[in-house]
Amino acid sequence: MKHSLKISSLIIFAATVASAFTSCGNDSELFEEDWLYENKDKPTTLATRSIGWTEDNQGTQYPTLSTIISNPTFKQLAATAWTNTMNALTDSTRCEYGFMIYWKNNRLDFGQITAGPVVSGCEGTKGSWKPNLSTRESEICAVYHCHTPIPACCKSDKYRPTGLSTEDRNWSDLHGIPILAEDFVVNPIRYDANYRSLSHKTYESDLKQRVRQTI
Ligand SMILES: [Zn+2]
Repeated sequence: MKHSLKISSLIIFAATVASAFTSCGNDSELFEEDWLYENKDKPTTLATRSIGWTEDNQGTQYPTLSTIISNPTFKQLAATAWTNTMNALTDSTRCEYGFMIYWKNNRLDFGQITAGPVVSGCEGTKGSWKPNLSTRESEICAVYHCHTPIPACCKSDKYRPTGLSTEDRNWSDLHGIPILAEDFVVNPIRYDANYRSLSHKTYESDLKQRVRQTI
């Protein structure tokens, strides 16, 4: 009995290993995103709140994603970032563009449009864009970035899901900062020579407003 149990375990193990090597068809999607996590400074002391804290100045109330999306300057920058992302596509490379969204003196403010790394190849590769958290961290209210088309070097059976990636969602949860991601409406996306004419839209994170920053 014990012996046959061992044999059946071996068979299951062998089948698992075999399927791991033969299931490449299921792995053909491109994985979006590779956000680089930054360890936020961890407090070393348990400081009391500053004297002067009152209910009146209990922290910043950040704008919601719907407020940001309806802002004319945002619309202009988002359109430019998307055009840059389309223009960056070659037969074998791609590059994401994005910008930071700030809330400063009760007004929306925006960072420069920046490029992520140029990514080559197809299966198993992923585009990315890194939010700049180094300056004005308390003024960040959201981030915006564009996902790329699929390059021509990918065969038609290669694809990736559209919308926020798992890394996007994890980053938003980790930092308590909402994410806007421009991506194609069709899901999943494959290589299409007419990618410039495909419909795209702004996808939103589950978090619609940055967690209030207390003083
Ligand atoms: Zn993303």
